[in-house]
Amino acid sequence: MRKGVVYLIGAGPGDPGLITVKGKQLLSEADVVVYDRLTHPDLLLDLKQGVELIYAGKASANHIMTQPEINAVLVEKAEDNKSVARLKGGDPFVFGRGGEEAEACLEAGVEFEVVPGITSAISAPAYAGIPVTHRDAASSFVVITGHERDDAGQAGTRSAGQAEGRRNWSTLAHSADTLIFLMGVEALPEIVARLVENGKSSETPVALVQWGTWLKQKVVTGTLETICEEVLRNGIKPPAVCVVGEVVNLREKLKWFDNLAFHPLYGRKIVVTRAREQASAFASSLRERGAEPVIYPTIQINPVDLEPLGKALTSINDFNWVVFTSVNAVTPFAECLKAAGLDARVFHGLKIGAIGASTAKAVSSELGILADYTPTEAVAESLVLDWPDKDYENIRILLPQALEARETFAHSMEGLGAKITVIPVYETVYQQNDVDVFIQRIKSQEIDAITFTASSTVHNFVRSLGGNDSIVKDLVQGIPLVSIGPVTSDAIAAHGLTVTATATIHSLDGLMEVVEQLFQ
Ligand code: SAH
Repeated sequence: MRKGVVYLIGAGPGDPGLITVKGKQLLSEADVVVYDRLTHPDLLLDLKQGVELIYAGKASANHIMTQPEINAVLVEKAEDNKSVARLKGGDPFVFGRGGEEAEACLEAGVEFEVVPGITSAISAPAYAGIPVTHRDAASSFVVITGHERDDAGQAGTRSAGQAEGRRNWSTLAHSADTLIFLMGVEALPEIVARLVENGKSSETPVALVQWGTWLKQKVVTGTLETICEEVLRNGIKPPAVCVVGEVVNLREKLKWFDNLAFHPLYGRKIVVTRAREQASAFASSLRERGAEPVIYPTIQINPVDLEPLGKALTSINDFNWVVFTSVNAVTPFAECLKAAGLDARVFHGLKIGAIGASTAKAVSSELGILADYTPTEAVAESLVLDWPDKDYENIRILLPQALEARETFAHSMEGLGAKITVIPVYETVYQQNDVDVFIQRIKSQEIDAITFTASSTVHNFVRSLGGNDSIVKDLVQGIPLVSIGPVTSDAIAAHGLTVTATATIHSLDGLMEVVEQLFQ
């Protein structure tokens, strides 16, 4: 990402999986992120440390940033030699006033780039089971502004632009088989009246998709004759996309997103306490099941000096095993290997152990080698018990792990006669959070379960809430606490808290399984 450049990035319609790979990458590197009201909060999770976040929706309690103010901020930050990500809902050039922001950059002599996004005009209908074209029902679609509010979500804060004033309803009504209106909720009665006036049948099917692609998506269908009443009755408010045309009838058959509502986790708010960098995979599998992940990272994975590992790599043939006891050890190991100009061939003649399936998977994807050994249970005790080679005297293990990791494995193996060289390759440290907001959510009974994936997440969870076991116990009273395995469960119990369920398979998949069972 270049400094002094403004990137106009489409955030997609809501579902945080619907941003482009390029957009996500730029976002994670930006010095400054300027975002809108309709930005999904999870998109702001994996940002650079020290990033400056600017909310363009509402600058203070009663001040909405105006378009000229937003333009000015973009220019100012770029002139300050920052890399600026301007995150805009849907596609930046579809009614997003992205064109105006690009013009402002141009006028100020600031460079800009555009990263297109998935527009709500097509994706909100798609999540409602409505294809905007269909071989039998529609061979064209148009996207039209209903224009009743600007980007900041304030009704009537701007007058219609010249192009909007020129809308010609008699042409529009017949311009395509499918008519898609954005910003059309408040003007719906007028839209319907103009279409019928200009010869559209009052029987034409219509759908409104509110909060399309978000878990709270709501869909209302009817005809040009009935839709206004349906919208009123169901309390549909902006943001919503309005689709007019025969394709709406396909929804009955093709609706798929609504079926998520039958999943046991639908609408459940599940706390994820893992490190921010690691939370996203578990969070997205929660989201796939219709749950809402509440990301509350309690630990942070920090890099450490890799020189000791670099040294060990130069004499790697002194070892006959490398054992990975955490997925976190794999990336620094791979980086160190690469930095030393080496590759997977250094493992020639060595055996590889991995504590569990996710670690084995990381070893295979990041180092390109298959683990020779994973124990039946992903815990240190099992790693020792199931050890395949009983000739302990001749075992020399290289063990890259966390600074201050549990020493169960190393001690037990040494007790059996093996030689172990422990090398720290990362560090887990405490991460402070917005604790007041979190406590408020617990108190207003908004939390359905809390998940723990390591004993460090438990200790730091308690610490983040003030560190007093009995106060924490009162606070989380009645909320299921779910753990990935016995060691983590012991840590929960050690704080005087009750473990509701422990995963039988000690992996994220196993954790998901036990969370699902809880709400079955
Ligand atoms: N650039 C955006 C549109 C901005 S105008 C895009 O390409 O999607 C804002 C309007 O977009 C809203 O009034 C609403 O009509 C529509 N919109 C944006 N996100 C939406 C969503 N998730 N569901 C339904 N409509 C949405």
